[in-house]
Amino acid sequence: MLVTSWDVFDSHRRANDMTDHTPQKRCTQCGESKSITAEYYTRTKSTRDGFHTQCKVCKQANNRAWRAANTTRSMRAAVKHTLNALREEKRTVRSGAPLTEKAS
Ligand SMILES: [Zn+2]
Repeated sequence: MLVTSWDVFDSHRRANDMTDHTPQKRCTQCGESKSITAEYYTRTKSTRDGFHTQCKVCKQANNRAWRAANTTRSMRAAVKHTLNALREEKRTVRSGAPLTEKAS
């Protein structure tokens, strides 16, 4: 019983030692050195080590910023679309309304 639990403890210790020796990589954006694992870096085929040059945290921040910018752009398009629709509606009303407007 004691031997078994020690074995478990020892294997955990060995696993921790292994993660400690994982090669580090400095993120090009935040400058922090992090282990080159899927936990800290997103995989990509475009780099030699198979991981992005920016850490996951920075990547996510970038994605969020990109999405925010994209949302603004699509919102602008939506506003433009609505304005066009309103203009179109006004034109329709104007072209159909003059007679009744003059009559009243
Ligand atoms: Zn980073």
